[in-house]
Amino acid sequence: MKLLLIEDEPAVVSVITRGLAEAGYEVSVAPDGASGLRMALDNPSFLLIILDVMLPNMNGIEVCRALRAAQLATPILMLTALGTTENIVMGLDSGADDYLVKPFKLAELEARIRSLLRRKSNIAAPVSIPEQGLLQVGDLELNTNTKAAIRQGNTIQLTATEYRLLEYLMKNPRKVLSRMEILEQVWGIDFNMNTKVVDVYINYLRKKINKKNLPELIQTVTGLGYMLKEQNGE
Ligand code: CA
Repeated sequence: MKLLLIEDEPAVVSVITRGLAEAGYEVSVAPDGASGLRMALDNPSFLLIILDVMLPNMNGIEVCRALRAAQLATPILMLTALGTTENIVMGLDSGADDYLVKPFKLAELEARIRSLLRRKSNIAAPVSIPEQGLLQVGDLELNTNTKAAIRQGNTIQLTATEYRLLEYLMKNPRKVLSRMEILEQVWGIDFNMNTKVVDVYINYLRKKINKKNLPELIQTVTGLGYMLKEQNGE
């Protein structure tokens, strides 16, 4: 189980590599952004990348964007010292799958790694997808093979997180989903994360699927959460 750790602080590197080695992982370390990017692109066999945000010569957000631009699908867990919604969203938006705010406990890091690796294998082998891997609600379709959404013939490209969110909504149409439920199911997080992240991603999805003034499909249910459903008439 090979992981890549991109982190410049020797003390953090030492704690993480030692802890993860005990948990059975083999950890390669890159001490700055540029070498981390190179190692990740040269070794597609890494199961997961742990990426610090504050790094010399190229920060974690830039590294993450570059990895996703290169079509690398390896799960990325971002380490940040800044736990504000804005920073978290910026990290996730650059293509990270999850984040952890420093300082954190080793057990928490291991839990997030397990959750990301589990999520990855779930996505690789979907169990309850209808025939042809096509989900449909109203005039919106989601192709679970190509991971693209299609509305009225127009293909909509989604980021990995947007895809998981839309897939979850489309598997549960006409059902109110709370922010906590969405966090658990889409982000695999069952404790204490800022639920504003859900609102931010719902807005990203709305902007992508409601182009050209098409009717709103993702309904806000005040005080409860969100629901995917076609609007009837008015
Ligand atoms: Ca750092």
